[in-house]
Amino acid sequence: MRGVLMYAPGDVRVEEREDPKIVEPTDAVIRVSATCICGSDLWPYRGIEPLYTQPQVMGHEYIGVVEQVGDEVRNIKVGDFVVGSFVASDNTCEICQAGYQSRCIHNVMVGASGTQAQLARIPLADGTLVATPGQPDEDLIPSLLAASDVLGTGWFAAVAAEAGPGKTIAVVGDGAVGLSAILAAKQLGAERVIAFSRHPERQALAREFGATDIIEERGDDGAAKVKELTGGYGAHGVVEAVGTEESMWQAIHATRPGGYVGYVGVTHGVKLDGLELFFTGVHLHGGPAPVRRFLPELIQLIWDRKIDPGKVFDLTLPLDQAAEGYKAMDERRATKVLLTP
Ligand SMILES: [Zn+2]
Repeated sequence: MRGVLMYAPGDVRVEEREDPKIVEPTDAVIRVSATCICGSDLWPYRGIEPLYTQPQVMGHEYIGVVEQVGDEVRNIKVGDFVVGSFVASDNTCEICQAGYQSRCIHNVMVGASGTQAQLARIPLADGTLVATPGQPDEDLIPSLLAASDVLGTGWFAAVAAEAGPGKTIAVVGDGAVGLSAILAAKQLGAERVIAFSRHPERQALAREFGATDIIEERGDDGAAKVKELTGGYGAHGVVEAVGTEESMWQAIHATRPGGYVGYVGVTHGVKLDGLELFFTGVHLHGGPAPVRRFLPELIQLIWDRKIDPGKVFDLTLPLDQAAEGYKAMDERRATKVLLTP
């Protein structure tokens, strides 16, 4: 099969790789219908995060058709069209039952086998994959793919920020996750959704997804604008979808005392001052999103065409042109790149 390999920062190639096989009896192998490049894939691409192997397989977002299942797989069948999370989970342990499947005691990172490929091995198939009601129409592919990470992550962030009726929710980060969080906050009934963005195209999509206000200022200036818009109080909840020290403080300072910060940006170099944090009086809740918790509901909303999160993809390329996809995202010419194997 063909698959993406990163040899070094900036050096992405698509090469012939060995077909994945069933290793554990709980595995499935899927034929990937669509995969994509994640903002987090840019960390090793930019040399900010080391490669774990050289070269390294890439990709953790995927949808596709089940080709093989191990002997202990009960619920997922060959031929099913499935959406899965980027963290494999048993979906039965106490952590999973509480809705935190991404921290399952048996969790396996799907990225270790790499889904930017024609085939992918998915561990713990029964607890990780969710079958769609049937084979999807072509136009649903981008949205179903979005559910496997960015929509699920944005949704979790909005839930963690306690989005709901009567609430004002602000979203730091206008990448695919931030935009998805705007969509989620709106769906969850938030009265007002404030987006931070300086990009005209992302602002337009933010409005389409449900943003009522746009703030172009960043950092503490941005947080001050939120206070201005909310009678001096700050937002009830803020989503943090970037992961830098500045964006974390922007989120915390935009939140009213007693409010909620849902943080899902993978943090890099964030060191929060304890005393400053102490006096904010906000709830912090985040981490790798338990996408599996939300998949059944998200798939249904997409299937019924009630949401169209696939609009976050603004470039589609064949898998063989993955290197160009990475370059386009690195240079911010694309928000999110879909790859078709
Ligand atoms: Zn578990």
